[in-house]
Amino acid sequence: GDVLVRASGLQVHFPVRSKGLRRRATGAVRAVDGVDLEIRRGETLGLVGESGCGKSTLGNALLRLVEPTGGTVEFDGADVTAMSRSALRSLRRRAVVVFQDPYASLDPRMTVGQTVAEPLQVHGLHRGAAARAARVAELLELVGLDPSVAARYPHEFSGGQRQRVGIARALAGEPDFVVCDEAIASLDVSVQAQVLNLLRSLQRRLGLTLLFVSHDLAAVRHLSDRIAVMYLGRVVEVASAPDLAAAPQHPYTQALLSAVPLPSPARERARERIVLTGDVPSASKVPSGCRFRTRCPRAFAPCPDVDPALQEVPSASPAGHVAACHLHGVVGVPEPADP
Ligand code: SF4
Ligand code: MG
Repeated sequence: GDVLVRASGLQVHFPVRSKGLRRRATGAVRAVDGVDLEIRRGETLGLVGESGCGKSTLGNALLRLVEPTGGTVEFDGADVTAMSRSALRSLRRRAVVVFQDPYASLDPRMTVGQTVAEPLQVHGLHRGAAARAARVAELLELVGLDPSVAARYPHEFSGGQRQRVGIARALAGEPDFVVCDEAIASLDVSVQAQVLNLLRSLQRRLGLTLLFVSHDLAAVRHLSDRIAVMYLGRVVEVASAPDLAAAPQHPYTQALLSAVPLPSPARERARERIVLTGDVPSASKVPSGCRFRTRCPRAFAPCPDVDPALQEVPSASPAGHVAACHLHGVVGVPEPADP
């Protein structure tokens, strides 16, 4: 089908234990708390939200690098939460993560060549030293590195080059699905643009399905076909990147967008900035009803009692624009009284 990855009601709750001797579980951190999300084959989906909103946990749970505590994940039609060991092994080849810190994720004692070759050995691909070396050279060229760097060690490289090595390693098994988790956050701004462009060209050339996880809405917009916005463990809005920028429907998305700097100073002065008050609640104390209501400038009667479902925005936008907010849903919007 058209959908490669589908999360339905996905949950990752971590137990919170009391400090006393008995350390009984006293509650849960609801890191991912009922996420519905579809990732289409061949698209780049941006997943954006403030740090701590659960987006990394969600990315990891889709690949079962973190165990979901509820709901389901389907990958190419197969139930990831019920996979056997061998099915999981094949998933580990087809679905990979590129992590934030390229230094921490590379073993300093392994050469670049060994680092990139390791997944080939794990998955039994390109067997034999000569075939493996040829594939490593091909992968290094693919990410814009000279194949001669295979003999060198990670500490000899800049952050941007190390991130390229991390990407070459991730692509070794010819994955279909790549999760980039804050993959450029630790790099200098000038290098960020180069790595973003590399990711975009690889996505197109290889037909990858990309989940681009970032707190940086500007970077996400630049790269993504569609964008999902996450708040306190839940996806609250999904739309195409242009629709989301032009007509954000959820008050949280509106606030996030209003904080993205505009290119011209005149436009910057003219626009209204929505400043959210209050702190993000703890994921162990999620508010009742709409979880955004404690910070929402537009909260109204139903918001404390009714948890808004993610549903199609009926009026404003083209099909496929969904938001979880009573202002746009069927539930709770007061009908105008007859005169
Ligand atoms: Fe704000 Fe209510 Fe919409 Fe939640 S449901 S975002 S509190 S208006
Ligand atoms: Mg994170």
